[in-house]
Amino acid sequence: MNTYGRLPVSFVKGNGAYLQDDKGNQYLDALTGIAVCGLGHAHPKVAQALSEQGQTLLHTSNLYDIPHQTRLAQRLCALSGMDNAFFCNSGAEANEAAIKLARLKGNRAGNHTPSVVVVEGSFHGRTMATLTATGNRKVHAGFEPLLGGFVRAPFNDIDAIQAIADNNAGVVAVLVEPILGEGGIYIPDSGYLPALRKICDQQGWLLMLDEVQTGNARTGEYFAYQHSDCLPDIVTTAKGLGNGVPIGVCLARGEAAKLFVPGNHGSTFGGNPLACAAAHAVLDVIEEENICSQAKIQGQRVVDGLRTALAGNNSVTEVRGLGMMIAVELNDEVPSLVSDALNDGLLINVTQGNIVRLLPPLNLSNEEADELVSKLATLLNR
Ligand SMILES: *Cc1c(COP(=O)(O)O)cnc(C)c1O
Repeated sequence: MNTYGRLPVSFVKGNGAYLQDDKGNQYLDALTGIAVCGLGHAHPKVAQALSEQGQTLLHTSNLYDIPHQTRLAQRLCALSGMDNAFFCNSGAEANEAAIKLARLKGNRAGNHTPSVVVVEGSFHGRTMATLTATGNRKVHAGFEPLLGGFVRAPFNDIDAIQAIADNNAGVVAVLVEPILGEGGIYIPDSGYLPALRKICDQQGWLLMLDEVQTGNARTGEYFAYQHSDCLPDIVTTAKGLGNGVPIGVCLARGEAAKLFVPGNHGSTFGGNPLACAAAHAVLDVIEEENICSQAKIQGQRVVDGLRTALAGNNSVTEVRGLGMMIAVELNDEVPSLVSDALNDGLLINVTQGNIVRLLPPLNLSNEEADELVSKLATLLNR
């Protein structure tokens, strides 16, 4: 169906940070399928894991024990500080699980109209519950009636959350991205997540972090909340977890980890042997190749390079980023920038009309990082 405004290019092959189209042209991929292929395209370890698993066992059912899934849950819990995992196939589904957990907590405690605090500028997915949770009217438009049970606050505004705590009985959880992704790579004040944690503790709310985009080493830590002193109750992720194989997960600890009982929730494909084999390979590579520190170092190299190359460019208001989540904010909308970049062999995204969003592979070489800087700076300085 007509769900995307597509660019006129067909990629047929990938290798590391590069994609090749059907005419043999090469492109530096600074978007990675929207923060999905963090290890680059056709990573040999991921390819080998998929091939071996494909010749062994693709799918059984969550009606049976799935050893790969159990072990993946253990690895992700060790990485995140959570206790249990629910596997699904996408970010929206991972957030659906989180929202269902919050509602279950409320209903079990006799609150039959529980609500979740969400923030303006957020993006949580395209299902009815996650589009309702999303803080963007364009995502809502035409799909009314939206779901009940959400309370909205501005992003990065602790006073607004405290005011909700003081006035709204019935809240059971806060759902927030540690960095707004689709919203434009907005990084909150360093005290924001710890302050949210404190309010949640005082109120008995669940702190639920949507790390669908920020997770899996994207920001230079495995999860973005690990940059601050804050442990959530629930964390969701998806995008980079399978490096292109669809997999999502909702991780939880404490009370939240024990809310679901058989019959409450499920997924036919979620956490099947194929998807888990891909995620295991991704975690192996993240560990073996020090991908978190690479994302930090190369992300800083790109940000520093862009700041230098764009100094004196009056159309640029800010270059910001954390790890390999980088934005160049411009004064004005740049309708042709994405297709101009495509013509120059560079894949980028523009969000909110005026924010160039870069989500490159986490393991860019120095040469690739410098190529990204020079190509983008040339386009913006033109
Ligand atoms: C992409 C994204 C989602 C939705 O993920 P899908 O896999 O497209 O359902 C949810 N939350 C955030 C923060 C995202 O970036």
